[in-house]
Amino acid sequence: MVVLGIESTAHTASVGIVADDARVVSLASAMYRPERGGIHPREAANHHVEVLPELVRKALEDGGVRPSEVEAVAFAQGPGLGPCLRAGATVARMLSMAWRRPLVPVNHCVAHVEIARVLSGLDDPILLYASGGNTQVIAYARGRYRVLGETLDVGIGNFLDKLWIELGGKFPGGPALEKEALAGGELQPLPYSVHGMDVAFSGMLTAALALHRKGVPRQDLAYSVEVTAYAMLTEITERALAHLRGHGVVLGGGVACNERLRAMVRAMVEGRGGTMFAPPRSLCVDNGAMIAWTGHLAYDAGVTTSIAGSAVEPRQRTDLVATPWRRSTGAAPASLLEPTPAPAG
Ligand code: AMP
Ligand code: MG
Repeated sequence: MVVLGIESTAHTASVGIVADDARVVSLASAMYRPERGGIHPREAANHHVEVLPELVRKALEDGGVRPSEVEAVAFAQGPGLGPCLRAGATVARMLSMAWRRPLVPVNHCVAHVEIARVLSGLDDPILLYASGGNTQVIAYARGRYRVLGETLDVGIGNFLDKLWIELGGKFPGGPALEKEALAGGELQPLPYSVHGMDVAFSGMLTAALALHRKGVPRQDLAYSVEVTAYAMLTEITERALAHLRGHGVVLGGGVACNERLRAMVRAMVEGRGGTMFAPPRSLCVDNGAMIAWTGHLAYDAGVTTSIAGSAVEPRQRTDLVATPWRRSTGAAPASLLEPTPAPAG
């Protein structure tokens, strides 16, 4: 039996089918690419409505799966763009009703952790989740995934996209900047904005654009932005690892496709005697397989939803989502987040 998962939180519509042993049976994705500028939520949602039926058909056909073999239908409930989430949830509800299969809600960020966790074989890794809209360091502690640190303004990917578009390029900016920065460059001073466990990027955007207006070559800017921003992410991941006395780090999110980021985090983790794992690119970016796999874990642990209770949650927080499947696995790292009991008296 397999679980079918639907992802539609932002610009990617994707349908994945995953078996009990986490084997990805099939994965069919389509990305909304705006002609100019960033993502327009309603246009992205229209794109998803158009492509999702075909993606479902393709995933079933590519995997040689009959609807009767699908055990449950999972969907990304949040966080994400409301109209986009609703497009995926609507298709999931329809399949659940048509096939008479349970509907399983999945948190998108938790799904990034779970797919990396199963692929890496690491029992209790810390996730550096670096995507378009999200930038978080996540670890499991006492029944929940906790956000230990995150961006205080925009997600790293949105920052890279915005910068590239302002420099005259097209969405998505991350891969284009990576190409531009490949051969290195002259390191420019940029704001290095780490606040405890958190990071911020808007100051770097302003500074990089000011350098651009002064005539600093695009290659130097791309190189300097990559080095500075990825050093910030590496630093907060290292601090989480040190606090939790962790051994493993996994990566997730589209920006985790970046070779420089992978190399920097790997050097840090291995320097501390730990293990770093980055999923293949197709499973780093938003994808239906991670939703299907997390749906599997959730369904096996008894998590399902009625149609009436399946409303999307654009602001769903990682640490508010129950993860009953993890109760029996792994030792929770000593959490710094547990409230200290107030002294008596
Ligand atoms: P996601 O939101 O996880 O689907 O990831 C999309 C984001 O990842 C976009 O902001 C892209 O610019 C960014 N991205 C994709 N590939 C790369 C790369 N090789 N280097 C840096 N950023 C990337
Ligand atoms: Mg994502």
